[in-house]
Amino acid sequence: MSPVMLHIPTLMLALLSGFAMLGIQLWMAQRSRLRYLDLGLWTWGSWTLLAGFSMLAARVFLPTWISALAGNGLIALGIVIYCEGIFRHVLGRSLPRWWWWCGPGLAWVLTAWMLAWPLAVRTGAISLVFAALLMPGIAVLLGPGWRAESSLRSVALTLVLAATSLILRAVHAWRHPEDYLDLMQGSLGQGLTFLFSFICLIGAGFGFVLANFERIARRMEEMASTDTLTGCLNRGTADTLLRHALERGRREASPVAFVLLDLDHFKVINDSHGHPAGDTALRCFASEVRQRLRGSDVMGRWGGEEFVLILPATDGAGATSLVDQIREGIAALQLKDESGAPFNITVSAGIAVATPGLQLGAEQLFTLADQALYRAKGAGRNRVHVHEGPVMPPAADIIGRTA
Ligand code: GH3
Ligand code: MG
Ligand code: MG
Repeated sequence: MSPVMLHIPTLMLALLSGFAMLGIQLWMAQRSRLRYLDLGLWTWGSWTLLAGFSMLAARVFLPTWISALAGNGLIALGIVIYCEGIFRHVLGRSLPRWWWWCGPGLAWVLTAWMLAWPLAVRTGAISLVFAALLMPGIAVLLGPGWRAESSLRSVALTLVLAATSLILRAVHAWRHPEDYLDLMQGSLGQGLTFLFSFICLIGAGFGFVLANFERIARRMEEMASTDTLTGCLNRGTADTLLRHALERGRREASPVAFVLLDLDHFKVINDSHGHPAGDTALRCFASEVRQRLRGSDVMGRWGGEEFVLILPATDGAGATSLVDQIREGIAALQLKDESGAPFNITVSAGIAVATPGLQLGAEQLFTLADQALYRAKGAGRNRVHVHEGPVMPPAADIIGRTA
């Protein structure tokens, strides 16, 4: 036995308090508005671990076999619940069903089978089982989880540390069986590995909470800038990006094309095929347009069935050719309403371009694009009109064709 000792009952009490605190905090968060999060699973995992450690500590007055079977089984179950939380959070799906049975079952069978064996052997074996049970969670966190919320990386690192400590505990038990005559026996090696193995699980809980809040913050950011029906940027964000693109175009002396797209006779589509079909048409329209844009182009929903495109480093000819392709693509879309009846949509577009020689503000650009759109509508719809300056352009700028 080493001269420096750690008092295991004290460590056990600290761990119990740690899991109880974590469980209470998570439970309180659950009771408020965070019910839908994967935090619910982590709460259950923490309660299960608390119950498991309580059962291990209860061997002071309970028969060892009850304490070991219940304690090890519950700790294994708690670890599996944590892994389930990680799977749901990162992959959006559950652990394989068999793992739920296999994990705690293995801990339970092993404990039952080894009950009469020396504590050092039992401790080593069960520590390795706990480390193995952490592996699916660690693998997911180090794989896809590494590119998700950055707080998840701290969960990955703490769980790796927990698994390493558990493996070291097994090695220590094997090398120093004299330190494992009793679970509560004071020893530096057994104390440190015990403490690190489970304190890391508590630490991982805090990282997981932060990762959930990071996700909420990201979702709120998305919701504040995106239109939920079509996934396009909303008007406010598109407007800000237009001003930004114009400023940049001015600095780099490159043209910026602004396009207003308006679906033709959309009210008729709604009236004859129903509002849900109209919504589907809006979604298909947005996705069809997005497919044809460059990474630097921006698509926003200006309102209702009106959309805008901001095309940096694009002149009138480039914008006209792109928007005309979009117009053709939209007209070719085969849509169906809820009763299966087919229908088509068409779009009219007005383009205005801010060139280095003709620096226009966002409002002017919008007015010119709106005028061009108005003329496209007036000329029969399913057309693209371009306007390249503040002066009313000649009739030759009409390049659309009749439906
Ligand atoms: P025009 O060719 O002149 O643009 O005719 P229009 O019928 O498209 O224009 P109008 O402004 O008269 O009607 C727009 C229609 O778009 C009316 C409105 O119900 C519909 N609309 C706006 N937003 C949505 C939406 O989110 N979903 C659905 N389904 N319809 C919408
Ligand atoms: Mg319309
Ligand atoms: Mg409209």
